Amino acid sequence: MSNTEVIRTDAITADSISEPLLREKNIHLSILRLDKIHPVISGNKWFKLKYYLANAKANGHHTILTFGGAYSNHIAATALAAKLSGLQAIGLIRGEEPAIWSHTLQEARSNGMTLHFLSRTTYDVYKRSPGSPALTGEFGNCYIIPEGGVGDEGVKGAGEILELVDINHYTHIVSAVGTGTTVAGLIEKTTDSQQITGISSMKNNISLVSEIETLLNRSLPERFRLLHNYHFGGYARYNNELIAWINDFYERHQIPLDFVYTGKMMYAVFDLVKKDYFPSGSKILAVHSGGLQGNRSLPEGVLQF
Ligand SMILES: *Cc1c(COP(=O)(O)O)cnc(C)c1O
Repeated sequence: MSNTEVIRTDAITADSISEPLLREKNIHLSILRLDKIHPVISGNKWFKLKYYLANAKANGHHTILTFGGAYSNHIAATALAAKLSGLQAIGLIRGEEPAIWSHTLQEARSNGMTLHFLSRTTYDVYKRSPGSPALTGEFGNCYIIPEGGVGDEGVKGAGEILELVDINHYTHIVSAVGTGTTVAGLIEKTTDSQQITGISSMKNNISLVSEIETLLNRSLPERFRLLHNYHFGGYARYNNELIAWINDFYERHQIPLDFVYTGKMMYAVFDLVKKDYFPSGSKILAVHSGGLQGNRSLPEGVLQF
């Protein structure tokens, strides 16, 4: 593995994808490679964290605290980002301490994050009331970054993803959706002539629309569409078809995808092209939001890269 201490936003490229289907449908597709900023740290998380960390420092905090599950890209990214910003980090992890720590947890710890395992009930209480005396009493007066980086600072940072490309070149932008913070940032940074399609990685998360509206402080524009039918069984679920597709895509383009977010998103892009969702002549930018560290939770040999 290359130098794991370096974040390289200068390594990000928009790679043009060539395939017979795309030529046949007269679609131009580029993939924005946020995965290239670091071998394991997820691309969009890095952007979402930027303003939280700046605020923490500006307000004189020495320690940040955040929330996540045992495989969380957000925990992995926050641990490294805090370290690189010279901040201490505390991670509150949902659920009992596992007998064997995931790669994510091990790496967060090796990047200096102090991890605490909380029951789901306590975790939810702390997550929902970050200013509570119980939380402050237990962990001190830390700067709190919400789970998944959801919030105004996250939206602002995510919008900067589009500063990496000549955005006027594209008619359509597609991104995976978890909390919706990233797509909220993309909506803010695009114009009325550009369509945004979000691919939800969760099953039936119908409250997402109102959550994104809360983040944006307005109702969603019609040019934004959220699709719920590419979850492959639910959040972090997968089947043989998805895995075979991800392996095949890697074989064709040497671009690694993760099975939780970007694999489902790219599968959706090709399926939608097939179904003529994008008009002929469309110029699509698919955001590869990273997340490759999460693939380490799969059994050896499932993914062929
Ligand atoms: C967290 C994550 C997302 C979801 O981002 P949100 O801003 O929460 O919607 C998408 N892709 C990857 C790789 C992620 O790690």
